[in-house]
Amino acid sequence: MIRTAAGVTLLVLAMSPSAFAQGKWPPNSMDRPRPAVVDPGPERPPAPAPSDAIVLFDGTSLSGWESDSGKPARWTVRDGYMQVAPGTGAIRTKRAFGSVQLHIEWASPAPAKGEGQDRGNSGVFLMGHYEIQVLDTWHNLTYADGMAGAVYGQTPPLVNASRAPGRWQTYDIVFHRPVFDQSGKVVTPARVTVLHNGVLVQDNTEITGWTVHAEVAKYQPHADRLPLVLQDHAHPVRYRNIWVRELN
Ligand code: MG
Repeated sequence: MIRTAAGVTLLVLAMSPSAFAQGKWPPNSMDRPRPAVVDPGPERPPAPAPSDAIVLFDGTSLSGWESDSGKPARWTVRDGYMQVAPGTGAIRTKRAFGSVQLHIEWASPAPAKGEGQDRGNSGVFLMGHYEIQVLDTWHNLTYADGMAGAVYGQTPPLVNASRAPGRWQTYDIVFHRPVFDQSGKVVTPARVTVLHNGVLVQDNTEITGWTVHAEVAKYQPHADRLPLVLQDHAHPVRYRNIWVRELN
């Protein structure tokens, strides 16, 4: 090692690119580069679920859902969609799931209101702990790991394939649950692939732990199956056409 001030400086500079390449950004950093914008094309009518899918929401009732506390879900259902009733809390499926293929459609409130994370925020929480962010990311500046299609606080989407507020958008998600050993240590981290409006935004991404605001993710052991949760972040986000196929 060269023991000069200049030598130490060179060493630090040489280390920085590899640290960046490994994605060593703190959660919710505004300095983290944001992905390119891709136009996914116009919204499409909802496609019917495949024959072996479990339909979680068909546009008519919340019978498959309950509130976070186990009481009846209080979100609004109308015209084929459900809408977050701000302040009523998250809702979860009555059924529990492990690894799944999930299809879900959502629309941000129109006209847009608020900025950054305070604009059309909701979220799809796989197993209740791993959030694929739902956010109005159409001409809305926020941190990269909080954009639509992000594994919240961990991995930004590969591109920003958002549609305008009020337009229907789709997530097609392939999620492989984490596996824990007897002591509760994670032996196989969860992985997720996400298509946003048909465009790849997460490519077999390793999930590094529970997605928690402004904290470095850590795993905590949990059951092999848990409900799917949709977030009430105080914004009237809409959902429709939700189905899963179990992967076992
Ligand atoms: Mg959210």
